[in-house]
Amino acid sequence: MGQFYHYKCNHCGYDQKYQIGGGFFTKEHWNETDKLRIQLKNELLNGEYGSVFQTLAQTGNLEYDCDTALYQCRTCRALTVRRGKRVEYRYSQQYGQSILESSVFDFSVEFDKHCTQCGIEQMEQVDINTVICPQCKERLLELVNYGWWD
Ligand SMILES: [Zn+2]
Ligand SMILES: [Zn+2]
Repeated sequence: MGQFYHYKCNHCGYDQKYQIGGGFFTKEHWNETDKLRIQLKNELLNGEYGSVFQTLAQTGNLEYDCDTALYQCRTCRALTVRRGKRVEYRYSQQYGQSILESSVFDFSVEFDKHCTQCGIEQMEQVDINTVICPQCKERLLELVNYGWWD
């Protein structure tokens, strides 16, 4: 199952739907996601992202996310769906009777920031609520509808 976001621009009339994630029957999508997740884990364990991440990966408390997400170019505002590479460090601590789980950080280690439209390496994952209109670049897009698809 994936998610969709339907955006509109009240300024220039831009109207577009973006689908994120894989459909229920698209096994290939999930296989690819799993493959990338294992690859990312190995890269971190091998120290390709530095000794801090290597140490964190060794604790086993890292969560790996290699699914698709909405990305926008900081320079030309091109909007696209692509795969990210993110890790999240989680740990649990006991306070008396209760165990609290904290997420310490959410770090993006993108492998391809290259924008296919302007050629500059400025692609960034966006907050779905603050997307600048890729057409007029004047306003924030209005999220008119979102939900799940399969
Ligand atoms: Zn660009
Ligand atoms: Zn617009």
